[in-house]
Amino acid sequence: MKSSCPHMLIAIDGPVSSGKTSLSSAIAKRLNILHIDTGAMYRAVGLAAIRLGISPDDEKQVSDICEKGLALVDVKFEDGMQVTLLNGEDVSEAIRAENIGLAASTVSMFPKVRKYLVERQRLIAQKQSVIMDGRDIGTVVLPNAPVKIFLTASAEVRAARRFEQLKNKGVEADYKTILEDLIKRDEQDTKREHDPLRQADDAFLLDTSDLNFESSLQAILDRVNTVYGK
Ligand code: C5P
Repeated sequence: MKSSCPHMLIAIDGPVSSGKTSLSSAIAKRLNILHIDTGAMYRAVGLAAIRLGISPDDEKQVSDICEKGLALVDVKFEDGMQVTLLNGEDVSEAIRAENIGLAASTVSMFPKVRKYLVERQRLIAQKQSVIMDGRDIGTVVLPNAPVKIFLTASAEVRAARRFEQLKNKGVEADYKTILEDLIKRDEQDTKREHDPLRQADDAFLLDTSDLNFESSLQAILDRVNTVYGK
């Protein structure tokens, strides 16, 4: 059964570098709703572990810092843009480092970390219209969202996009390493025991391997319009 929620809920899931975050952000602007990047929240827990000298694969210690309030993750919005907070500090830049992406993928395997963040994500979506992107939004966080999109593209296309992004930012990058990291994260995300990345039964599959940004954006907007009749 679909949500009777009075505001708009759009769930976007997909593997690393499938364009979830940039597409969701563009859609949020078009529809004038908030975009919640849930990956940023897992990254914040990964960053917290590293800063505290805890190995991201130490389940007990990582779970403890979430349960004991040593990794307080929150988001706020400035000019419609998400600012990710760790213990009150803006860590939006710090969480973008490549090693934090891998740490996030590791800490996201732990059920206590997931429980902690899923609760926070649901609270945000209760209050307002959102487009929320992640790995488990359509399956776990917002299973009643009226619009669910599962975005994908081949590993090679995603690695090439990531490589371009880094190059444009002036960051030195190696395509082969990016592809290897991406395959490793895909594997961790799809094979983990708790809330693995998978397409919800009622999600619309959008493969962007052969689509440019504008066409992908339009395909999602068409879907939203079909459901919400705008
Ligand atoms: O989307 P992003 O690459 O920033 O996410 C970082 C990591 O957080 C992912 O590799 C994934 O393992 C995890 N994640 C998750 N569930 C979400 C969002 C992200 O497990 N809803």
